[in-house]
Amino acid sequence: MSVMTATHEVFNQAEPLAGVNLFRVNRPLADALRVLAPGLETKRLDELGAEMGSAEMQRHARLANTHAPVLHAHDRVGRRVDQVEFHPSYHALLGAALRHGLHGTPWGAGPLGHVERAAGFMLFTEAEPSVLCPVSMTYAVTPSLRANAALQAEWGPRVAAREYDERFVPGTFKRAVTMGMGMTEKQGGSDVRANTTRARHDGEDAWGRRYRITGHKWFMSAPMCDAFLVLAQAPGGLSCFFLPRWLPDWTGNGTVNALFVQRLKHKLGNHANASSEVEFANAAAWLVGEEGRGVPQILAMGALTRLDCALGTAGLMRQALSIALHHTAQRHAFGKPLVAQPLMTNVLADLALESEAATLLALRLALAVDRTENGADGDPSFDAAHEAVMRRVLTPVAKFWICKRGSHFGQEAMECLGGNGYVEEAGEGVMARIYREMPLNSIWEGAGNIMALDLQRALRGADVAPALEHELRGARGANAALDRAAARVLAAIDGGVPEAQSRILARDTALVLQAALLHRISPPAVFEAFCAARLAASSDVFGALDERADLDPLIERAMPVEHA
Ligand SMILES: Cc1cc2nc3c(=O)[nH]c(=O)nc-3n(C[C@H](O)[C@H](O)[C@H](O)COP(=O)(O)OP(=O)(O)OC[C@H]3O[C@@H](n4cnc5c(N)ncnc54)[C@H](O)[C@@H]3O)c2cc1C
Repeated sequence: MSVMTATHEVFNQAEPLAGVNLFRVNRPLADALRVLAPGLETKRLDELGAEMGSAEMQRHARLANTHAPVLHAHDRVGRRVDQVEFHPSYHALLGAALRHGLHGTPWGAGPLGHVERAAGFMLFTEAEPSVLCPVSMTYAVTPSLRANAALQAEWGPRVAAREYDERFVPGTFKRAVTMGMGMTEKQGGSDVRANTTRARHDGEDAWGRRYRITGHKWFMSAPMCDAFLVLAQAPGGLSCFFLPRWLPDWTGNGTVNALFVQRLKHKLGNHANASSEVEFANAAAWLVGEEGRGVPQILAMGALTRLDCALGTAGLMRQALSIALHHTAQRHAFGKPLVAQPLMTNVLADLALESEAATLLALRLALAVDRTENGADGDPSFDAAHEAVMRRVLTPVAKFWICKRGSHFGQEAMECLGGNGYVEEAGEGVMARIYREMPLNSIWEGAGNIMALDLQRALRGADVAPALEHELRGARGANAALDRAAARVLAAIDGGVPEAQSRILARDTALVLQAALLHRISPPAVFEAFCAARLAASSDVFGALDERADLDPLIERAMPVEHA
């Protein structure tokens, strides 16, 4: 036996962050829940935090991302099979997400169901975000599906079942299902009116008006879902359809629907999730809502996947921050732990501000969804009309700004690890994975410009200025820079903003809302530092906090350790 001679001792290399309870170490999240959802029982989040922070789940995340899904379009002898094979770790992760109820469970679950699920979604993201794609779509489908009572009655309980059934068998044979969506085509994604996929009326049955769909989708993620909502041109215009992978007994004797998976996308990140190109050749599908109302119908789903983009990015930020803090607390350079070098302290504290502000804003949106869907059980401060406006406005604002900051944040957090941050080493380098994942939440479900334009649409559809004023009232007078910024935003909304300035409005609206939430929820030092860095001054680089501010409390608050 030959023994390799060690030429040197390995030291001053950081141990990975593993085996922490992600919920218990996340102070901003706990504080946000305490203030925004005081009645919420957090036991289940605590269990989720422990499981998702475990070394076992980190191993699953690594394996699911390094063993990407494989498409089997045909079998060995040439028959089409159109199935995607995943690594067992993918199934372990997806099973955990459904077991923890991150999909359809909040609908009708009573007050705070959506908030609890949103917090869980953020925590799960810190372990693995890509399996959450079908989870998010399965969560978001319910408001759309309700427009077809027969489908909702049959599939509704299945999208909420805390089980995972990975078998490729008819959805009607399963107790638990997952659902996807197909909007984007080659010639147009944002502009779905350009869809060319056609729908031909084919009769009536137990699921309502049946059609035959022919055409394609250029992106359709998670093609092993049991059914999809798809857009297609019907005689009455662009319409929304329910398209199952398997035909129900009465139409096709339990045969596979004519959905052909052409190819899986070779993506920058999101490797554990399969994103496919598909074609439909006379595939059977059932109308959801009315003919010609496809866009608003499917956007009822899209609005909720946009919430998840904001939640997911907030989760990724928190994960990246935790890793950066954990690393810099161990790594020494120039005689000190990196975290104690003043300039690194400044960078990390600035990232902590961003992460906390993102968490609060995403959770505020989830609360608006919760209140408008599940009510507030006698809370005297509950104002249904206000929550409806906040839900409408915050969806594009939070999706735009949080996701837009994600990539910048990921790059800076990666840099805190130096060269090691850039190295993946068979999936062990989690920071590089986070960095590759970050741009996706900004692109899918409506890219940045589409969100900024949607904010303009929201302003046309409701009296937003008084609602924002009401939302910001608790922070009025607390900080001069916030007062000035809020006045600017309200004046811009009142006066109207040219289309080409819509991003600025989306950003500024997000910033004042984040500041007001920090005022309401977080320690004064966090609020003051945020106002100084994001509203009084504007810096295009992290690490530009005022050197006179005491940044140590910000670092201590964000450090991924259990706090007393
Ligand atoms: C990994 C992955 C998975 C996906 N999964 C799915 C899925 O499951 N189902 C699905 O339906 N889609 C899916 N998509 C597609 C995704 O939603 C679209 O790519 C996205 O909505 C953008 O559409 P597009 O690619 O056609 O780009 P385009 O519509 O061509 O947009 C390109 C750019 O132009 C901007 N733009 C568009 N219109 C305007 C305008 N009027 N003014 C200013 N700027 C504008 C956009 O903001 C964007 O930045 C997925 C995408 C990816 C990357």
